[in-house]
Amino acid sequence: MAVILKNARSLNEEGELVATEVKLVGDVITEIASRIDAGEEDEQVDVGGQLLAPGLIDLHVHLREPGGEHKETIASGSLAAAKGGFTTIAAMPNTRPVPDTKEQMEWLQERIRQTAYVNVLPYASITIRQLGKERTDFAALKASGAFAFTDDGVGVQNARMMYEAMKEAAALDMAIVAHCEEETLTYKGCVHDGELARKYELSGIPSIAESVHIARDVLLAEAAGCHYHVCHISTKESVRVVREAKRAGIRVTAEVTPHHLLLCDEDIPELDANFKMNPPLRSKEDRAALIEGLLDGTIDFIATDHAPHTEEEKREGMELAPFGIVGLETAFPLLYTNLVETHICTLKQLIDWLTKKPAEAFGLRQGKLAVGAKADLTVIDLQTEHPIDPDTFVSKGKNTPFAGWICKGWPTMTFVNGKLVWQKGREE
Ligand SMILES: [Zn+2]
Repeated sequence: MAVILKNARSLNEEGELVATEVKLVGDVITEIASRIDAGEEDEQVDVGGQLLAPGLIDLHVHLREPGGEHKETIASGSLAAAKGGFTTIAAMPNTRPVPDTKEQMEWLQERIRQTAYVNVLPYASITIRQLGKERTDFAALKASGAFAFTDDGVGVQNARMMYEAMKEAAALDMAIVAHCEEETLTYKGCVHDGELARKYELSGIPSIAESVHIARDVLLAEAAGCHYHVCHISTKESVRVVREAKRAGIRVTAEVTPHHLLLCDEDIPELDANFKMNPPLRSKEDRAALIEGLLDGTIDFIATDHAPHTEEEKREGMELAPFGIVGLETAFPLLYTNLVETHICTLKQLIDWLTKKPAEAFGLRQGKLAVGAKADLTVIDLQTEHPIDPDTFVSKGKNTPFAGWICKGWPTMTFVNGKLVWQKGREE
């Protein structure tokens, strides 16, 4: 028996919306046409003229399990992903324990198999317990299913450690994914070192805390010959360094978050800790440079840095609350409403930054709507408009700076491996 998605629209190569019907057999797309006649045995799903896109991909997510299950679990976070239209997410390793051994990675893979709603690709750490002192066994971690290596949450401070890691990653054809933060330059800040920090007399994190690490790392990556990926790029100087590195032929890719594309430090009201994340919201000029970098291809794709925390933790205020905001359930509507509807980019560009581009950067087979591809699909309603309401989130984290923002572009159905894993209205 096949499933036929009827009455959809999808983007063609020119970025036009065209009538599309798709046949799924098991977990594979077997036919795509403007009209497909269903056989008697086939199940038909009418998607009501909505957008059918490849399942979205988010390569920067914190699922908090193991060790932080009160904030999020693989089950709750991956359901939030499905609700946000994401069918593939990559989980950061700053959990307790850290996936830094073969045994821990195998445990994590099993937990994902048992509880995840979408494809979850686990990162392994670069260093044992992410302490920056001793490198993990890359070959063993690759063999047990690690997606790539990162110490996200902290920067790798020691240049030699980073260089050795990059050489080993190159030998194994794996990527080094970097949270760039030079700790001697952060000044224990909680917001960007700019107008807001001065107004409230807070310690600010200067842009150089990030850009200096990226500048170091692109040169190390050139020498090591590895694929080096920059997480959550946030400053104009960082964009310039990546642009020049690409021009020089260095194998560097970069991601940017929805919040750094849509907000700057001046948008933070009353020091609300739901606007606290690392890297922090930067200046207007930085935000403009990030959009420019995304449009000209310097920045390869968008990732949410979904980072759930409890309401109690976020109530501790700007200086004491932990860094991070949730992103999975709001990314597409926010970006569609504020970048596509405002004509900053096209719908095709946005979909590519959330599907094809991350897949290309990391050699994933996901991210395309094509015959023979895995049936990971997202249906999105581009018409209905309503405000973001954290109380409706299926993530355990309600920590968003976007509450009340009125958006269009809400995912309504998410298919993973040909199975409907989430549908609007069918409970959450
Ligand atoms: Zn990070």
